[in-house]
Amino acid sequence: MSNAKSVRALRKAQVDSKGCVACGCCVPSCPCKAIGIFKGVFANIDTENCVGCGKCAGACPAGTITISEAVQ
Ligand code: SF4
Ligand code: SF4
Repeated sequence: MSNAKSVRALRKAQVDSKGCVACGCCVPSCPCKAIGIFKGVFANIDTENCVGCGKCAGACPAGTITISEAVQ
């Protein structure tokens, strides 16, 4: 059994590190402070804090963030 809230909690952002240009646009878009720029090279998502809202994906000019269902 699942409801909308539990499904949402399982969604997570993923960054394609090859496509990321480390512009940092996604960092302030995240309401959960779940994004950092790893060694100045690519964005890194803290999946513990990510709630899968998708705001970062909308903020990324490179289109390199996707939201996917976490595999449990
Ligand atoms: S999906 Fe939402 S909570 Fe997760 S990293 Fe992106 S902006 Fe932050
Ligand atoms: S907005 Fe996109 S390209 Fe810029 S740092 Fe974030 S994931 Fe990388």
